[in-house]
Amino acid sequence: MFKTAMEARNALYSKEISAKELVDLYYKKIDEVEKNIQALNSLTKEIAYKTAQLVDKKIANGENIPPLAGIPLIIKDNICVKDTLTTASSKMLENFISPYNATVAEKLNENLIPIIAKANLDEFAMGSSTENSAFKVTKNPHNLNKVPGGSSGGSAASVAAGEALLSLGSDTGGSIRLPASFCGLVGIKPTYGRVSRYGLIAFASSLDQIGPFANTVEDAALLLEAISGYDTNDSTSINVSVPKYAQNLDLNIKGKKIGVIKELLAEGVQFEVKESIEKAIQKYKDLGAEIIEISLPHVKYAIATYYIIATAEASSNLARYDGVRYTYRAKDCKNLIDMFTKTRSEAFGDEVKRRIMLGTYVLSSGYYDAYYKKAQQVRALIKEDYNKAFEKVDILLSPTCPTTAFDINSKVSDPLSMYLTDIGTITINLAGLPAMSLPYGVDKDNMPIGVQLIANVLEEQKLLNFAYALEQAK
Ligand code: GLN
Repeated sequence: MFKTAMEARNALYSKEISAKELVDLYYKKIDEVEKNIQALNSLTKEIAYKTAQLVDKKIANGENIPPLAGIPLIIKDNICVKDTLTTASSKMLENFISPYNATVAEKLNENLIPIIAKANLDEFAMGSSTENSAFKVTKNPHNLNKVPGGSSGGSAASVAAGEALLSLGSDTGGSIRLPASFCGLVGIKPTYGRVSRYGLIAFASSLDQIGPFANTVEDAALLLEAISGYDTNDSTSINVSVPKYAQNLDLNIKGKKIGVIKELLAEGVQFEVKESIEKAIQKYKDLGAEIIEISLPHVKYAIATYYIIATAEASSNLARYDGVRYTYRAKDCKNLIDMFTKTRSEAFGDEVKRRIMLGTYVLSSGYYDAYYKKAQQVRALIKEDYNKAFEKVDILLSPTCPTTAFDINSKVSDPLSMYLTDIGTITINLAGLPAMSLPYGVDKDNMPIGVQLIANVLEEQKLLNFAYALEQAK
């Protein structure tokens, strides 16, 4: 087995292995471990072998191929891939076959990256543990009694279990960074607008962003490069060129300023997480960076603000699932209203219903100003906190999550304690910034710990460079 995409690429280039054999190898691994991990909703063998065949043909003809050509990838099951089941892990879309490709799926095709499977998630990406899937509970490969994090838990667990070398997830409030942290991977949430959202099943449109998981910073940089870029199909995508992130990786951070977010290292942070963060800070000091304490005073309102904005947007985005369009429709309905009601009652899970109700409530007349408008105002203050911080520092640092992975079933009956796991990640989505989680250390039970780095808008290169410096200094 290969540890990184780069290793596999070298094996392909030197003809030690063909792209077809590489795909075979990962399907074999899936056969071995999937029964324990439960990370996948479906396999996409036809697509995978078709792409692998193209790669092998190009290699045989001595043609140039893109850097990640032939490297097996798993995609979150809320991203549309033409002619495949795309379920968002919801009963509502159980039999939905996407008639088109998301822009990122097109880009994977252009880069000849074989999509080998679709990964489990919390239903419609709502959750932090992947326990909200309508189909299965994904396990953390580091300890099968623990959650992999969420909502992109299947994407993270599959790579951590060696089922693929790369995966894609989506991050609305931490859904890439949290599972990356719990599973010991690199995970990036790009700047809002850096990667097209066209074909991503919408949860909260002003926050959603697609991003990569990988074993190393270099692999993640290559995948980010492959999926980034302007897209006329997404009105929020930014029209700027995509840097050569991997080629431009630079270890030298001497004299650069790192801001450590005070509020995210306060009470409630697990002792070993704090310890690892302190070690990372010391390492950065050794590498010549200057450390500055930064306060983001509005972080304390982050959970409330996020759970108003995200639920409001979710309630309107999910209005389309009415039994008329898409796949699920309740049987024996008396009239149209009865069909809408029954369909939605039967096919949405508890968390999704909870959010639709909350979101509908905060948008209802009479409450709009008190909740939604107020939340948007606080969102502006949070963004302002970051603007001020980036006047003083190059990059910000915090734990990705205050704790390591928790036990399966330990938080399902207490939504508020589940929401609190997002404290470190959600402000970044509210502010539209790029951020990533990088593995750094383990707790006493050997569960991975994640360091979060946050950069200013479109400064993904800076983010990657700081991450690369820490990764290589280990
Ligand atoms: N845990 C957060 C939520 O449940 C974030 C989810 C996400 O980023 N998709 O909303």
